[in-house]
Amino acid sequence: MAENLLEVKNLKKYFPVKAGVFKRTVAHVKAVDDISFAVKQGETLGLVGESGCGKSTTGRTILRLLEATEGEVVFEGKNIMELDKNEMRAIRRDMQIIFQDPYASLNPRMTVADIVGEPIDIHKLAKNKKERNQKVEEILENVGLGAEYMNRYPHEFSGGQRQRIGVARALAVDPKLIIADEPVSALDVSVQAQVVNLLQDLQQEYGLTYLFIAHDLSVVKHISDRVAVMYLGKIVELTDKKELYDNPLHPYTQSLLSAIPEADPKKKKDRIVLEGDVPSPVDPPSGCRFHPRCPKAFDLCPVKEPEFKEYGDGHFAACHLLEKE
Ligand code: SF4
Repeated sequence: MAENLLEVKNLKKYFPVKAGVFKRTVAHVKAVDDISFAVKQGETLGLVGESGCGKSTTGRTILRLLEATEGEVVFEGKNIMELDKNEMRAIRRDMQIIFQDPYASLNPRMTVADIVGEPIDIHKLAKNKKERNQKVEEILENVGLGAEYMNRYPHEFSGGQRQRIGVARALAVDPKLIIADEPVSALDVSVQAQVVNLLQDLQQEYGLTYLFIAHDLSVVKHISDRVAVMYLGKIVELTDKKELYDNPLHPYTQSLLSAIPEADPKKKKDRIVLEGDVPSPVDPPSGCRFHPRCPKAFDLCPVKEPEFKEYGDGHFAACHLLEKE
């Protein structure tokens, strides 16, 4: 069995809410609230949930683009939360991120050669400019953009091509882990599959491990080996992809799956429509955070928080109903 490349242990990220003339902290947004999971070497773990559930904050906290409130992030056996700036800089080479918005994440005043070459310069991975440009050219070809694009600027590209530049920039330093933060959400549906396929091909070629963040289960279905479902700062279910799609245990996962259109009319399923909006993470509901919207909630749900437990081989979920069965 593959070893864990990344382990996230009891991670919390709270943002203070300030108010009044003295800007005192009056509450906290509990964006990520005590989550634990691991990503195995070479796998893709999909992290899915509605917007505001904490999935992007999780990705950024793992990379220490945001500092965690509590918890550990263990990368290759080392708790990176304890590293100083210099040690962290070295680790950053191994952990890269691809952002959601290919429009906003590329500097419009830099050429493609400089955008992709910048991390090579920062980490001193080329002896001179010629060697650096050769590397850039090679990476651009691997992401489906030829050397002829080297001296062009981001505005000259389509959304899909810009995301390919973002992927090339992440690959430039030969990372081990890529956190892909909704990498296809801003793209046309017709282009999404091309970028997902590209990421899959690159995974094989470069031996990459992915944490793939998305807001719906249909996007991660193709690429993930396992999937974690997040709701209001908590992971509510985590298992193997096939198991999740065939046998979802948590009512929230069941509702997300019911929203995916089915191409085969024989497999048509009833849509589970959730009542209300996602509650505020400043004051999350008591007990099970999903209880105000859960179609299966019962008297214990608002009172006690369900434990995140294993119900079958590697299939984890947090729901009182499962404890009853
Ligand atoms: Fe629904 Fe209760 Fe299970 Fe929460 S614990 S998901 S409210 S049945």
